[in-house]
Amino acid sequence: MSDIIIGIDLGTTNSEVAVLRDGRPQVLEVDGSRILPSIVGIADDGTLLVGQAARNQYALYPERTIRSVKRRMGEDVRLSMGDQSYTPQEISALILKRLKRAAEEQLGAAVGKAVITVPAYFSDAQRQATRNAGELAGLEVVRIINEPTAAALAYEVDAQQARTILVYDLGGGTFDCSVVRAGSEITEVLASHGNNHLGGDDFDAKLIEHVVDHLKEQHDCDPSQEPAAMARIMRACEAAKIALSDAPYARIDEEYLLPERNPPVNLSLEISRIDYEAMIEGYLDETLEAVHTALKGAELTVTDIDEVVLVGGATRTPAIQQRLEEMLGMQPRAEVDPDLCVAAGAAIQAGVMAGQSTSAVLVDVTPYTFGTSALGEMNGMPYPYCFVPVIRKNTPIPTSKSEAFYTMVDGQEAVDVRIYQGEDRDALNNTEIGSFRIEGLSDVPAGNVILMRCDLDLDGILKVTALEKRTGLEKHIEIDNATARFESQELDAAKQRLATLIDGDAERVEDVDADTEQHREQVRAKALLDKAERLLESASAEDQEDLIDLVEAVRDALEAADMEGLKRATDALSDLIYYLET
Ligand code: AMP
Repeated sequence: MSDIIIGIDLGTTNSEVAVLRDGRPQVLEVDGSRILPSIVGIADDGTLLVGQAARNQYALYPERTIRSVKRRMGEDVRLSMGDQSYTPQEISALILKRLKRAAEEQLGAAVGKAVITVPAYFSDAQRQATRNAGELAGLEVVRIINEPTAAALAYEVDAQQARTILVYDLGGGTFDCSVVRAGSEITEVLASHGNNHLGGDDFDAKLIEHVVDHLKEQHDCDPSQEPAAMARIMRACEAAKIALSDAPYARIDEEYLLPERNPPVNLSLEISRIDYEAMIEGYLDETLEAVHTALKGAELTVTDIDEVVLVGGATRTPAIQQRLEEMLGMQPRAEVDPDLCVAAGAAIQAGVMAGQSTSAVLVDVTPYTFGTSALGEMNGMPYPYCFVPVIRKNTPIPTSKSEAFYTMVDGQEAVDVRIYQGEDRDALNNTEIGSFRIEGLSDVPAGNVILMRCDLDLDGILKVTALEKRTGLEKHIEIDNATARFESQELDAAKQRLATLIDGDAERVEDVDADTEQHREQVRAKALLDKAERLLESASAEDQEDLIDLVEAVRDALEAADMEGLKRATDALSDLIYYLET
């Protein structure tokens, strides 16, 4: 028997197998993909199906297909598949066997040993069942390790100092968050909390509900009793959900959804990220509460956490990354593919046990954040140069991300797009690496949607495209060497600008030409007027009077194009708004 030890992530939705090659973990392909759906079935002709083929038949033949077997591990049950029944260990063994065979085909050698990962909350019975499944598959399970420990290993393999890591793992059907203490000698789970029935599939369900409601309202039909139509809707919703991780809008187009209806139903629906995020907000709240519970269990607080590591496909949802960043004050790490991270960690553990030397997972990531500027709020004040990240630092490349922006005035026929590299919330403190103008926009009211897409490739070439959503009109530029370090003079200039900033506010010593200055002041004034109007209702009678006086002063100055008067009036108005808001 060979001494190769493979690492296996035996997941509820998907499974993966990895080995250590030249000291680095490598996830192996099974049937042309590095992800094997954890689904087993029997085909029409009685052949055994494992993985994608079994997944494909699930919707039509659920009675001869088994999924999510991991949920049943350790239970004394028999699961029926066709006219036979099996223990959960036996079904898991079929998945493990498929992974073992794939590894043997690619390594060109027999494989007899494995490290298998399990959730931190798995009981002894569940761990034992996993071991048995390994044996049934012809694998000696040399170690069972906790999934969060494996994830920490994938990130912290070179770490010299002990670190406290929060592992946030949201897969298709399960959520776990664990506090892991990773040291050079020992890595242990201090506390773990989660929900065994919460995951990306629930996000799909929200979208499915939305689509079914839309069909009921707009097409007067209910597809919920039509399995073929529902299967198409489910797939389309998952695809839309995944698209919304990289873009602000996604379309669901399914023609002839209910072909027997006359006329046939053609589903065509656009979903915005904002609406989708509102649908899943309750779930996200629940996961963040679990983070608090896990921290409490470890007798730690937010400030004790050194790193946050993302695991599981659903953590690619940007709202999750944002909410965690807000809560923990640091950008979560996601450089290692969240679907493959646990398998990679299992391979590292396997390599250590086989006496091999190990090093970190190698991935290409962007070392900088790229984005643009837009009107937003800074220090409680409207500010036109807020930095809006589009591709975040440490995102694996190649990548493509887009964001939506809106025109500010009615009939606006052009937009200037500036592209910055850096991490500062104030775009003017970052380095501008390119700009262009998109012209000929439609003559429509303010709020015309402009999509900005950034594509960054492995050679560091950044392609930025601005696109008018309603017409498809687009313009783009390419920036070479976007990921190269910026020149030291530019760095100095950026530092200088920072040093001369007063309270991070808009007073700068740089030379700004009068036109730009005037434009900025006008933009700021308009934004303040909007804000003042919103505050008017809730303000006391006395404050209302003051607000109205200042609003009028700002309006008069705007009309008279009196720049000095405008500045005085907007400053006074912004002071009052600040006071009213705090
Ligand atoms: P896992 O069980 O870790 O393989 O995670 C699978 C879940 O992640 C499924 O619900 C997928 O739909 C979801 N998923 C995969 N990629 C993305 C993505 N880019 N954005 C949001 N969810 C995703």
